[in-house]
Amino acid sequence: MLEINQALINALKKCRRLMIFTGAGVSAESGIRTFRDEMDGLWKEYSVEDVVSIEGYRRNPELVWRWHEWFKEVAHKAKPNPAHRAIAAVSELVPQLDVVTQNIDGLHQRAGSKNVILLHGDINRIKCSRCNYETDEWEKSEKQLKCPKCGAGLRHDIVWFGEQLPEDALTYAMHAATTDDVVIAIGTSSVVYPAAQIPFLAKQSGARVVVVNPDDTPLTQIADDFIKATAGVALPELFKQTWGTQFEKFYEQTPAG
Ligand code: NAD
Ligand code: ZN
Repeated sequence: MLEINQALINALKKCRRLMIFTGAGVSAESGIRTFRDEMDGLWKEYSVEDVVSIEGYRRNPELVWRWHEWFKEVAHKAKPNPAHRAIAAVSELVPQLDVVTQNIDGLHQRAGSKNVILLHGDINRIKCSRCNYETDEWEKSEKQLKCPKCGAGLRHDIVWFGEQLPEDALTYAMHAATTDDVVIAIGTSSVVYPAAQIPFLAKQSGARVVVVNPDDTPLTQIADDFIKATAGVALPELFKQTWGTQFEKFYEQTPAG
């Protein structure tokens, strides 16, 4: 059993607004690796910048399209893990839950989380590279699809290196950071900005900041609690110790994929 500080359990029990802030590590136990690791194997001859940057897209839009279609398959084959499910269950136990994610794999949504704030976009959406056309329904295609409105190339709705985050999502998350009582930052290296600043802002604004990560990150230095464990082990355990059978009831109802 994980040893969890009683003060954290008390803080969660009386918490009115909880933020769950996630990075790639929350999906590690679903078998989705970091972008850098994913570039091994099939994509060995390319760099991350070739496939998820605006310059890469300008150089070779077909390659960028193919990589995203492939990553979408990886995400679809993966299943939500106990961490995604525990997060979905907690929405039933706190008055307000903000799930803010840097991930694009859709696993929070598939585990049953509602109104997930997507800071880096969604692999299940495509949009026009020129006009405002977007859709979440299309036939899988090896070749890049063209916009039915203007004929320009379509692209996946992902925030690439060198691009701005969606303004509404970022504004919501920054505001929530200043009002939420507790922020649990899970599986994030805390080096990808501007998303990384959200838990720091929460700390400055008086929130209790909890880190769940098997490794140290820049955020652990300012965290009130550091649970040094993987997300799939730590979260069900933390919530079970906090809310007992009430949590277990909702947890059992969440889809396991
Ligand atoms: P990151 O890859 O920089 O860091 C991952 C962190 O997760 C590390 O600190 C690592 O120690 C930790 N970790 C590894 N296994 C873990 C586990 N089982 N439980 C808990 N923590 C674990 O991730 P980042 O901070 O999200 O930044 C990378 C960027 O790449 C993000 O912007 C994200 O959009 C994108 N990305 C998304 C996905 C996805 O959608 N699943 C996958 C890869 C990358
Ligand atoms: Zn268009």
